[in-house]
Amino acid sequence: MSDRVVVRFAPSPTGRLHLGNVRAALFNYLFARKAGGKFMLRLDDTDTERSTEEFAHGIETDLAWLGLHHDIFARQSDRIADYEAAAERLKASGHLYPCYETAEELDRKRKRQLAQKKPPVYDRAALALGGEERRALEASGRRPHWRFRLEAEQTAFDDLIQGHIAIDARSLSDPVLIREDGRFLYTLPSVVDDIDFAISHVIRGADHITNTGVQIQIARALGAVPPAYAHYSLLQGPDGRPLSKREDAAFSLVALRGEGYEPMAINSLLARLGTSDAVEPRLTLGELAAGFDISHFGRADIRFDPADLDKVNAALLHMLPYEAVMGRLASAKCDLGSAFWDAVKPNLVRFADVAIWARVVEGPVEPVIEDGEFATEAAAMLPPEPWGMETWGLWTEALKGRTGRKGKALFMPLRLALTGLDHGPELKNLLPLIGRNRAEARLRGLTL
Ligand code: GLU
Repeated sequence: MSDRVVVRFAPSPTGRLHLGNVRAALFNYLFARKAGGKFMLRLDDTDTERSTEEFAHGIETDLAWLGLHHDIFARQSDRIADYEAAAERLKASGHLYPCYETAEELDRKRKRQLAQKKPPVYDRAALALGGEERRALEASGRRPHWRFRLEAEQTAFDDLIQGHIAIDARSLSDPVLIREDGRFLYTLPSVVDDIDFAISHVIRGADHITNTGVQIQIARALGAVPPAYAHYSLLQGPDGRPLSKREDAAFSLVALRGEGYEPMAINSLLARLGTSDAVEPRLTLGELAAGFDISHFGRADIRFDPADLDKVNAALLHMLPYEAVMGRLASAKCDLGSAFWDAVKPNLVRFADVAIWARVVEGPVEPVIEDGEFATEAAAMLPPEPWGMETWGLWTEALKGRTGRKGKALFMPLRLALTGLDHGPELKNLLPLIGRNRAEARLRGLTL
C-alpha cells in the first residue's frame, strides 16, 4: 500500500441516497479531506437490471447538495474489459473454476445439507469434473457460472473500527464471481477497481465484513496487497430497524431537502453520530473534516432520532450571520434586514420558519385580545417613536406601574395582541421592527 490516501464511495445506482447509505460517502469524503487524499465516486452498476441512469444522476445531485464533491469518477459498466482480463488471470491460476449446477440443483444440495445438520456450504462438486464431462454438459446446452476457490483458512485483518477480525473461509461457499450469462457480480469488479485505482482504505458498513474475507483472498490471488478496512456500525431508524431506501422515504436526502434541512446540519450530525465526539454544528466540510477521526466510531448500533437533526439544524441556523443568508432571505421574500435576522434566528428550527416571523413583523397579524381594557391602556401608553432596543423595557415598566400587572400576566397579553401567537422571538427585539403604527393598531384589535 502506498502512503497516499485514496478512498471511494461505491453506491449501486438502484435507488436514491438516504441518511443510512450516505454515511459511506460522508465518511470517505472527510477521511480523504483530512488526510489530503483523494475521494472517488464509483458507480457499481454491474446489475444492469436494477441500475438506472436516473438513479445515477440522482445520487450525484444528492452528493452535490451535501457538498461531497469527488476527485475521481468511474463506473463499472465502462470497465468490463478490465474485469474480464482479471477473470482470465484467475482462471489461468486455477482460482476461478466453472460450475454447471442449476439453481434447483444447488437448492436441493442445500436442503440435504441442512437436513443432515451440515452447514450449507457449496461442496465443490464441479472441481471434480473432467474435461470430457464439462464438454458433455456444454454440449447439452449448459453454460457455466464461475466460482472463486477460497483458501481454507482464517482470513484476518485489522479493522480500523472493529479491531482484529478473522473470517473462517471454511464456513463460506466459494463465491460466484461470474453468472451463467457472463455478467459479473459485484465482488470481482469491486476488488479489481480497488486495486486499479490504488484504493488505500475501504470505509463501509459493517454488513460488508464477511465479504471482506473473500475480497482479501481475491486481491491476493491477483497479486495485490489488500487495502486497509474500516467497517462502521449501521444506522437504525427510530424503530430500531436499519434504514432502508425503500421503506424510509422520509429519511431520503430528497425528502430532507424538501423539508428544508441545511446540508451542513445533516453532515454535522452524521459525522459524529456513533462516535465518542460531541455533535456540534459546523459551517464547512473543512472544519468537520478537521475533527473527524474514524477510530472514534464504536461498534454498537446507532439509532437515528429525528429530534437530533432538528437540534443541530436549529443550532446551525443560530450561528449564521446575516451576510450568509441575505440571498436566501431575499428569495423567500423575507429580507427585513440584519436586525430582523438577529431577532428571529434563535427561534428557527428550519430556515423556512423565517416566513412566520416576517409576517409577524410586516403583517397582517390577527391580534388575540383577551382583556380589551388592558390592551387599550397599553396602546395609549406606547412611547413616541423613534423606537429602539430600550423601548420595550420603558413601555412595560410604565405599564406595570400603571396596572400592577407583572410577569406573564403583563407580557403574554401583549405578545398575543402584537403577534397573534403565544411564543416567539424576544419582544424587545421584535417591537422596534413592528413599529408604532402596527403595534397600536394590533393592540386596538385591528388586523394589520
Ligand atoms: N456497491 C456496494 C454497496 O453499495 C459497495 C460496497 C463497498 O463499499 O465495497 O454496498
